[in-house]
Amino acid sequence: MSEAIIQVQHLGKEFGSHSVLRDIDFSVHPQDVTSIIGPSGSGKSTLLRCINMLEIPSTGAILYHGTDITDRRVNVESYRAKVGMVFQNFNLFNNKTVLGNCMVGQMRVLKKSKEEAHRKAIFYLEKVGMAEYINAKPRQLSGGQKQRVAIARALAMEPEVLLFDEPTSALDPQMVGEVLQVMRQLVEEGLTMIIVTHEMAFARDVSKHVIFMTDGVIEEQGTPQDIFENPSNERTKEFLSRFR
Ligand code: ADP
Ligand code: MG
Repeated sequence: MSEAIIQVQHLGKEFGSHSVLRDIDFSVHPQDVTSIIGPSGSGKSTLLRCINMLEIPSTGAILYHGTDITDRRVNVESYRAKVGMVFQNFNLFNNKTVLGNCMVGQMRVLKKSKEEAHRKAIFYLEKVGMAEYINAKPRQLSGGQKQRVAIARALAMEPEVLLFDEPTSALDPQMVGEVLQVMRQLVEEGLTMIIVTHEMAFARDVSKHVIFMTDGVIEEQGTPQDIFENPSNERTKEFLSRFR
């Protein structure tokens, strides 16, 4: 097996006396699609935020190519260029155009020239079907369009891994499909992804590995077949029965 990109080892996270993650252990290899499912409040966002260094782990470690990401020699911005994140609420810069949103990180963090940043922004906006909107501001776009721009902005950094935190949960139902379609294309292209989602059919179709979380722990993990067809854990069965 190829070398892991990310190794989460016995990760724990506490907010004050509230333990939110306990003994979380899994690895991500190149081109893996890992889905994280589970009820609201089970710690899925906190886990992704730890992997993106938006939260500092309380115990355990997260290794990126073998290096602990909390090591002070790791530059947070450079790390986030390699391990990018797409948020439920898009987090676009509202005062910038679509094009500006897709150029700013490339220029500030990757030190790309304006011409190069422009070229890559257009390339990735075309990929998500948003190249016609380069001069629009986020407020002029639908939720599905905003999320596609957010994905293009993340892709423009040419990350090694992309984290998605419920990318379709804030969308009207008719816009969910256009975002999942873009994500499906990224899966086919072999992008390494960790996806927190409530879209069970999507998770079953695209994932190599599925992690079911409750109350800050991994209850069960395995292949989509293991989790969706033959769950061994009662809480997994109970959770999945709500989606049938
Ligand atoms: P999920 O994404 O699975 O819904 P979260 O990771 O958002 O779960 O939250 C897990 C638990 O951690 C919840 O009880 C939540 O209230 C708590 N939590 C999340 N962020 C913070 C924070 N910054 N401070 C205190 N508690 C938090
Ligand atoms: Mg969440």
